[in-house]
Amino acid sequence: MLKNASECDEALLNMKKNTNNNDVVCCDLKIDSNDACARMLIVTKFGGTSLATAERVINVAKRLVSYQVRGYQVVAVVSAMGKSTDDLLALARSVNHDPPARELDQLLATGEQVSMSVVAMAIEALGHRAVSMTGRQAGILTTTVHNKARIAQINTERVRHELDCGRIVIVAGFQGITEDGDITTLGRGGSDTSAVALAAALDAYVCEIYSDVDGVYTADPRVVPRAQKLPSISFEEMLELSAAGAGVLQVRAVEFARKFDVTLHCRSAFCDNHGTLVQEKAMENAIVSGIAYDNSEAKVTIRGVPDSQGIAAEVFSVIANSHINIDMIVQNVSENGITDISFTTPVGECAKLRRILEPVVVKIGAREIVIDEHVSKISLVGAGMRTTPGIAAKMFKVLADGGINILMISTSAIRVSVVISEQATTDALTALHTAFGLNAKEMFEETALSAEELAAKAAKGR
Ligand code: ASP
Ligand code: MG
Repeated sequence: MLKNASECDEALLNMKKNTNNNDVVCCDLKIDSNDACARMLIVTKFGGTSLATAERVINVAKRLVSYQVRGYQVVAVVSAMGKSTDDLLALARSVNHDPPARELDQLLATGEQVSMSVVAMAIEALGHRAVSMTGRQAGILTTTVHNKARIAQINTERVRHELDCGRIVIVAGFQGITEDGDITTLGRGGSDTSAVALAAALDAYVCEIYSDVDGVYTADPRVVPRAQKLPSISFEEMLELSAAGAGVLQVRAVEFARKFDVTLHCRSAFCDNHGTLVQEKAMENAIVSGIAYDNSEAKVTIRGVPDSQGIAAEVFSVIANSHINIDMIVQNVSENGITDISFTTPVGECAKLRRILEPVVVKIGAREIVIDEHVSKISLVGAGMRTTPGIAAKMFKVLADGGINILMISTSAIRVSVVISEQATTDALTALHTAFGLNAKEMFEETALSAEELAAKAAKGR
């Protein structure tokens, strides 16, 4: 049984060497057993940057054709070109500051439809056959929650039929359809989830996630240039890293991959390097596999809260009822029956949060709400932590030695996170990366992106 992409590629190459005839290889493999490689079906996903220009679209088309030539049935899930989803969102907000969710989905879904059709056209121009499909045409049924729908079911019949006719199938990512025929989208970065779900439904042996980074690194290489690319990482660690802010994969895509055991291969659309395999078991159980940061959250503190029964329940049910996500709740030890409660929440939710909490503060007799938007959460993740004591202590010591103050702490079995001031982010990442022995010999060098794209990434903080 072949378990991963490189093994399959290798096996294919060997078979090709032996026969020197692609067609024979394909036939042999198709007839052959249940072997993972015999299915010969691959799902690929291309992010917006990989499709940002006509030239890049043509390169994607060439890559897809090369898979087909090597004997694979190929499905490609595509994101909207460049930053067109952002542009569509801005357009919507310029006519309505709070656009109706259904209409927003109708609009946003068009971004991926542009990509799917131009990729299909580019493939046809290379003399190969392709067909593009919207979420509906690809049978992707979702729940009815607009802007953050979840995939409920995939009817793969039409996709399979097109593949069996020898076409490369291009599917619009990020979108699906409700039972009632309304278009939905899956939340920002949702094309990852579309791809993994299709890979699971089609029983693909690997889902190749192409983007502008060539894998999962021990830290964001644009912030820590000594970061190293990991050859593989476990689902569990990738889940923690994604949730902690590593922008490589959408959290839900990783959850899906884990649930259905779909091996992911995160790699660059701009080169042929092997990327990072995300799978059930990583090659080794590193104590620290990666360090993620997230400066998109704010620290909210409710000061002078009377320390009595039911107060926390009151505060947090109001927040939950407004569908605001929070994390890292800390309640101080009370002094004279008065305490502080702190938690983190996305910066974008702060205005709404203040609005709904102000009456609550009055009602419970607390003193005030203080919001600090300039904080950063730094997380160490590693499956080896489970069996190695002292990781948190070492982390705190490294930060203390660097003169960095810790504002909040939280842990899971394989993660330690701290909240610090945002301006200390780079220093903290660099010091921890060095202290935990993660530094590479060479410096990371960005090559594929334009100056403009690099500036946009830097502005976004990643
Ligand atoms: N185009 C969508 C977004 O920008 C979906 C995706 O890229 O995965 O969020
Ligand atoms: Mg994306």
